[in-house]
Amino acid sequence: MNAQKRTRTSTGFYSHQHLKLARLPIPPPGLRILPTVRGAEKYTSSGPCVEGSASGPYHALMPDPAPECSPALRTDESSPAPSSIRLNEIFHSIQGESSRAGERCVFVRLSGCHLRCSWCDTEYAFREGTKREVASVLQEVLAIECSVVEITGGEPLLQKAVHQLERALLDAGRIVMIETSGACDIAACDPRTEVVMDMKAPSSGECDRNLESNIEALRSHHEVKFVIGNREDYDWSRDAVERHGLAERCRAVLFSPVFVQAKGLEIAGAAGLEPRELAEWILEDRLPVRMQLQMHKFIWEPSMRGV
Ligand code: SF4
Repeated sequence: MNAQKRTRTSTGFYSHQHLKLARLPIPPPGLRILPTVRGAEKYTSSGPCVEGSASGPYHALMPDPAPECSPALRTDESSPAPSSIRLNEIFHSIQGESSRAGERCVFVRLSGCHLRCSWCDTEYAFREGTKREVASVLQEVLAIECSVVEITGGEPLLQKAVHQLERALLDAGRIVMIETSGACDIAACDPRTEVVMDMKAPSSGECDRNLESNIEALRSHHEVKFVIGNREDYDWSRDAVERHGLAERCRAVLFSPVFVQAKGLEIAGAAGLEPRELAEWILEDRLPVRMQLQMHKFIWEPSMRGV
């Protein structure tokens, strides 16, 4: 996204209108634009993508054109959706977040994300993964006898074929959750799906990527999650809850502190927030939210993957 054309609304949202107006710079012939660090682009002429390579370049697993979640990336019923997805991992674990925390759940993590949250704990999903047929992923997930499936990422809504998988799982009788950044259009999701939509607070560095149109698309069985790293994030999140009446719109509003990493494993620029501090702020303000900790990080090593 051309930073000069990015317009932040007074509410901290980024509207579809702005997305439609925004244009990427035109790359030299034969080259395409790739994200490097937040707010920057570079050009590459590197050869075909090497799928399935865990050490492959980041761009190898990103959608082409450049990964900006625009309306053009929404599922369009008039054009055939691809039948394959870029999959990072499938695993069976305990759901660590949301109103379903504590339930058994199969996680389907898709590859690629167009955001770079300061506290992101799944950066490996930016790069790693394999191209898989939707039918094969479906078969693998259904083989695990578990009624709840969460499709996550990365950003799962960047891939059109996610909706094929979503619908197939729902039709097979599974409860489907999709966890999304809030920077992609959730209206494209099946109405039966339980969307858990992150709203990015200031310390994420991605606050201006929240899509205002997603607020109207929220349903009563959806949940909105705020990851809170400091007092500024808390105040911003509390204001958003009140301004949009989120507690009335959704099944739950989740407040989650940025996980305090162990010494030596800190994420640069994301110090973490002590849960007690967040708890005391919520109690003081009597907020209608559900505080949550990432349960899986207490059951297993916080950095362990596949749990
Ligand atoms: S949206 Fe999720 S996967 Fe993407 S950078 Fe943010 S935390 Fe990481």
